[in-house]
Amino acid sequence: MKEAFIGGYLIDGTKEAKTIKADILVEDGKIIKIGKFDLDGVEVIDCLGKFILPGLINMHAHLFGSGKPSKNLGAKSKSQEILVSFVNSKMGRPVIDKLVAKHVETELLSGVTSLRSVGDFNCSDLRIRDKVNRGKLIGPHMYCSGAAITVPSGHGDGTFAQSASTPEGLKALVDQRKEQGVDWIKICVTGGVMDAKRKGAPGEVKMSLEQTKAVCDEAHKLGYRVASHTESPDGMRIAIEGGVDTLEHSADFSLEDQKILKERNGALILTFSPAIPLSMLPPEVTKLNEMCIFNSNVIMTNMIKGGQEAEQAGIRVGLGTDASCPFCAQYGMWREVWYYAKMMKKTPAEAIHHATLVNAEILGVEKITGSLEEGKAADLLIVAHNPLNDLNALSEPYLVVKDGTIYKKKPEHNKFIDEQLKALQEKLLSA
Ligand SMILES: [Zn+2]
Repeated sequence: MKEAFIGGYLIDGTKEAKTIKADILVEDGKIIKIGKFDLDGVEVIDCLGKFILPGLINMHAHLFGSGKPSKNLGAKSKSQEILVSFVNSKMGRPVIDKLVAKHVETELLSGVTSLRSVGDFNCSDLRIRDKVNRGKLIGPHMYCSGAAITVPSGHGDGTFAQSASTPEGLKALVDQRKEQGVDWIKICVTGGVMDAKRKGAPGEVKMSLEQTKAVCDEAHKLGYRVASHTESPDGMRIAIEGGVDTLEHSADFSLEDQKILKERNGALILTFSPAIPLSMLPPEVTKLNEMCIFNSNVIMTNMIKGGQEAEQAGIRVGLGTDASCPFCAQYGMWREVWYYAKMMKKTPAEAIHHATLVNAEILGVEKITGSLEEGKAADLLIVAHNPLNDLNALSEPYLVVKDGTIYKKKPEHNKFIDEQLKALQEKLLSA
């Protein structure tokens, strides 16, 4: 079956972001022609005056949560422990799967046509990915790490991560991931905001160079690339020298490590969606103590520095939402694009380029998606207003298309999150 998207302006996802008025012809889920063509026997989709972009790629998502902040943010409670052990049990499996299925649908309906998930419970993301691929569920193209790997008391240990301390134990966890059918390996070299023990020192190093190297060597031997939760300069050194391919969240790093990462063709994945609300929303809203807010600010400052250093060194910088974190909704990728432009001082065109083609390159799927080109998948985000004038245009898709299939349904929103983040956006604009 052929379908034609006609009358729209194309923003093709390349660095130059050429905006051209052209029609797109799709056959069997692929773009076969951009320009003018015969409409005989073709289903026509009227996009008159609309803007057509490549679908967004979310490089860093967790799929178990809605982003709604809980009352006891970060506090390790007995009730949380009970919930985690239930979710990880055989009985909990259908419960977590149902949540993840709902969340991947939300991601797609918000314009995300590919995503990488980096830490799950009970292998849920892998099962949902397979169901999406078989057409049983609605969702983006998914690339999943399964549960993350760390050391005892490392970030996520006992929740979305599993731990071991010896090199042999860590390698065994990588081997287990292969059996589970993952696409990436995710590790947590440092802690996060909630793990910090003192003011000014978030991203405490948890994995040693030897432990990091053990995981990366085994992963590379098996043909996987490794993503690492890394939130401090010390962590950047260990992660990069240990062999990590993508640094998640990131911080500033030395010239020597920039050289190593560039040679490896590695990347940084910035995630402003948790960093900005946690550091900037009032404590009455986030329920964070003064130390956590201070440390969130340190993380955000370091993230910007790391991103700037990477760009100067010619290292790719991608973006993801860290969906499931407090205030990081599954429909929030458009906002990450907006934050990225604001914090990294980029034009909307540059931010869109990073959220589409650059993310595709980091993911290794640039030959099949990430830009509007003949031969690539018909993965499209169609919006009513020009995002090059205002990235808020991306927040309300007119249509989302994945592999040529059209989705019109609107994702469910959380009013509280939207109100808080809208106020933050205004604050950032006036700053
Ligand atoms: Zn994360």
